Amino acid sequence: MKILVSNDDGIHSPGIHILAEALKELGEVSVVAPDRERNAVGHALTLHKPLRAEEIKKKYFSLNGTPTDCINWGVLHLMMKSPPDLIVSGINKGANLGDDVTYSGTVSAAIEGTLLGIPSIAVSQLGPPPYEFKAASVFAVKIAKQVLSEGLPKDILLNVNVPNLPIEKIRKIKLVSLGRRVYEDNAIIEKVDPRGRKYYWIGGTSILWEDKPGTDNDAVKGHHVSVTPLHLDLTHYGVLKKIKKWEKVLN
Ligand code: MN
Repeated sequence: MKILVSNDDGIHSPGIHILAEALKELGEVSVVAPDRERNAVGHALTLHKPLRAEEIKKKYFSLNGTPTDCINWGVLHLMMKSPPDLIVSGINKGANLGDDVTYSGTVSAAIEGTLLGIPSIAVSQLGPPPYEFKAASVFAVKIAKQVLSEGLPKDILLNVNVPNLPIEKIRKIKLVSLGRRVYEDNAIIEKVDPRGRKYYWIGGTSILWEDKPGTDNDAVKGHHVSVTPLHLDLTHYGVLKKIKKWEKVLN
């Protein structure tokens, strides 16, 4: 089995090295990761500047691009002649739960893999640091093994979040839906610079979640590993059917 590993924390993050080492149990591992931290870049693709790759050690490549660039270069160039059977992105420093998957570079690498037709998994570990990457890697291998033997339906990827606990304190693997964030009034922090101009910070306050059983945030809160199947077709078919009649009004 050939496995491609990437992340958004960069090639020097310990999370990707622990993950790649652990996955060697399942097959031949290649790593392509950004040369620096590229957190919260979403599904960005670099189109207007050259990309350069450097092999920092055997089968470990650093690329001056986004996680999405890394998967593109890895699948369509490096592994062009023998594409990977599986892509695993992570282990991310910090959770990628609920609505946050849309910002995540970690999840976007797995989205790109899925678009290219390869079964893909994103793995993140909750904060705060220090991270128990070793524990998360055990679950990553377990889930990767299952995906390699069962496959994933077309256009589906798995988003995995692991509590930041020693392995003996982590309970079960739960298959759950995405949770929803609750945005507080103080979500944007306003400050004033030394020249009297205002500036802003997005985030930085604690994240609140809707309290709903069966969601990823609820699972990890209960010390479980959350696994959520995500699909790439964002069409809402129920609403499409319902508002089809708008065509008459709009034309
Ligand atoms: Mn990250």
